[in-house]
Amino acid sequence: MDDKQMLMIPGPTPVPERVLQAIGKHPIGHRSGEFSTVMGEVTEGLKWLHQTQNDVLVLTTSGTGAMEAGIINFLSPGDRVLAGCNGKFGDRWAEVCDAYGLQTERITAEWGKPLDPEVFREKLEADTEKTIKAVIITHSETSTAVINDLETINRYVKAHGEALIMVDAVTSLGATSVPMDEWQLDVVGSGSQKGYMIPPGLGFVAVGPKAWEAYKTAKLPRYYLDLGKYQKAAAKNSNPFTPPVNLIFGLRSALEMMKAEGLESIFARHDRHRKATRAAFKAMGLPLLAADDVASPAVTAVAPVGVEAEQIRSILKKRFDIALAGGQDHLKGKIFRVGHLGFVSDRDILTAIGAIEAALQELNYDGLTPGAGLQAAAQTLKG
Ligand SMILES: *Cc1c(COP(=O)(O)O)cnc(C)c1O
Repeated sequence: MDDKQMLMIPGPTPVPERVLQAIGKHPIGHRSGEFSTVMGEVTEGLKWLHQTQNDVLVLTTSGTGAMEAGIINFLSPGDRVLAGCNGKFGDRWAEVCDAYGLQTERITAEWGKPLDPEVFREKLEADTEKTIKAVIITHSETSTAVINDLETINRYVKAHGEALIMVDAVTSLGATSVPMDEWQLDVVGSGSQKGYMIPPGLGFVAVGPKAWEAYKTAKLPRYYLDLGKYQKAAAKNSNPFTPPVNLIFGLRSALEMMKAEGLESIFARHDRHRKATRAAFKAMGLPLLAADDVASPAVTAVAPVGVEAEQIRSILKKRFDIALAGGQDHLKGKIFRVGHLGFVSDRDILTAIGAIEAALQELNYDGLTPGAGLQAAAQTLKG
């Protein structure tokens, strides 16, 4: 059957009908007064979502472009940076730093485990010369479904005093609280196809006052991603270059929906889905990659034993038209990942779990009590 696909991957995420309709309009001139009004509304909404008074800039990039912008605008060649690496995305930001000739120090943890804040504390405390210019943390590491302890690591960065904290909030923003002002985060990057409930194509980077101070003397090359240009334009509800006008219509609509639901309700929904999904897999006897206390609110990674992750994915795709994500890099074929980010309801969780149970039955998975996963999910969702 056509048009019945269900995305249960951690991006792109499902897009509400209302947002699709907002996007499906004829574009208008990006220098028109009409579009300027839309930009003004969108900027207000973005600040609300980031819990900040700072600039939240809109770029025509994916999330990676937003993070690259966040890194290159505030640093100079040879600057020393600490990069948290416990998954695909953490590794990526270290690669960006390498590409721009920064002195990158990787703070690693095994994939599936969280970064150890104490390692950051030791490095930062030992740096009495204040040579560390930035600490880059992936808040929710989508590749392993682990959430890192940003709040604690950030506290050590604040105690250091010099280093900027740069956060990949791509799958934490809109899923759990990332209070930019309260935590005094300097740079927060995100992307449209994740918690925003709109299609891919927009990157967002929020910039605090300390980062703008660093911007003045930062010497890495920049042009299209020069955030000063975006800041200047945003102050006039405008854009330095032609933005994807239609995606911005969609963004306005999605932010309206988020405001109507309320931040606390959005976070509670993601927490409920995280718990229900995990309870279901435990009841089905499928091991989870991340421990309960470090589990991402946006995605759950399952490391099945006695049944192939790729076979489960394949049955879900072929029989039920449900997309699940596979593993990345060395976890390829070893795990599958269920996204529960953005426009996801309790019904979606039950549907995905029911289909996974059906796949396990088809694969004659040992030790399955049919219905146990659904029962656990339903129970958890009920609260
Ligand atoms: C999706 C994602 C990104 C951005 O990836 P793009 O493909 O560039 O949008 C960055 N970090 C995390 C943690 C992500 O999940």
